[in-house]
Amino acid sequence: MLPNLDVKILGIAPWTASAHVAEQYRCERIFLAGDAAHEMPPTGGFGMNTGVQDVHNLVWKLAAVLKGLASPSLLDTYHDERQPVARAITEQSLINATSMGRLEQTRKNAGARSEYLNEQGMIFGAAYTSRAIVSDGTEAPHVANPVTDYLPSARPGARAPHVFFQNDGAQISTIDVVGNGFVVLTAGGGRMWAEAVAELAKDHSLPLKTQAIDDEAFMSAYELDASGAVLVRPDGYVGWRSRAMMGDPARTLCDAISTILGRISSRICARSIA
Ligand SMILES: Cc1cc2nc3c(=O)[nH]c(=O)nc-3n(C[C@H](O)[C@H](O)[C@H](O)COP(=O)(O)OP(=O)(O)OC[C@H]3O[C@@H](n4cnc5c(N)ncnc54)[C@H](O)[C@@H]3O)c2cc1C
Repeated sequence: MLPNLDVKILGIAPWTASAHVAEQYRCERIFLAGDAAHEMPPTGGFGMNTGVQDVHNLVWKLAAVLKGLASPSLLDTYHDERQPVARAITEQSLINATSMGRLEQTRKNAGARSEYLNEQGMIFGAAYTSRAIVSDGTEAPHVANPVTDYLPSARPGARAPHVFFQNDGAQISTIDVVGNGFVVLTAGGGRMWAEAVAELAKDHSLPLKTQAIDDEAFMSAYELDASGAVLVRPDGYVGWRSRAMMGDPARTLCDAISTILGRISSRICARSIA
């Protein structure tokens, strides 16, 4: 305490807690993101985080459409993926606020619930369902409390889990190799997947690369056998997974990318396989 400190108040920014989520995130050329799309009580500190995640989801889709790599329909998946996540986060932020007596009608109850600031499940476990995700038919991992409990999963739609692995003598994370274009993470050597990726990237100017991860922990976390692979989207979410190699890898991968980008499969794939 400095009792004689001369404090000068430069400005005051009043605010009112509210909980609103836009019914639609897109209207033709207009996309809502951040607080324009969702207002939530600050109990949990999710407002800005959710806004940054919105934009992370949107920008690679805009870039792909503007470059002619994806169909404009890819942009509809922005709403489909982000709006349900914002609803869930806003609801939980409101429950936090209520438990802490931050709302007029709950002033007397001042104990934060146990989930408050313990929301790993909601943060890391949020998963997408949309046409830009190719389901592999597996179920979402079951957790006792989806707000607090995070069970890493590489199921399509989930955030690609962090796993450390050795790369050129250095320990790096799977998170370090995704986020710049599409990345195919392969278990084992992944030579056939790497050839398919090189062919696709060259023929279609796709921002696509491969990373071989010959590591048991990776295979276990991503539920792959030694011939399997996952495709991670530019926003770090798993878009497709093949737990083992089946059939022609170039064709399989091409179909997956075509589905995610909303392009006519035959147009993009037929040429590269021919
Ligand atoms: C007390 C409090 C604590 C918080 N703590 C956290 C936290 O710990 N973690 C967290 O993630 N979030 C937190 N938040 C939430 C976070 O502050 C907001 O979610 C975030 O600032 C929203 O950013 P935004 O860019 O979407 O909107 P804003 O920050 O509202 O930015 C919108 C900007 O657009 C400008 N603007 C508006 N209309 C126009 C116009 N017509 N033309 C040009 N410009 C315009 C505005 O002036 C403003 O600068 C907190 C919020 C509060 C109130």
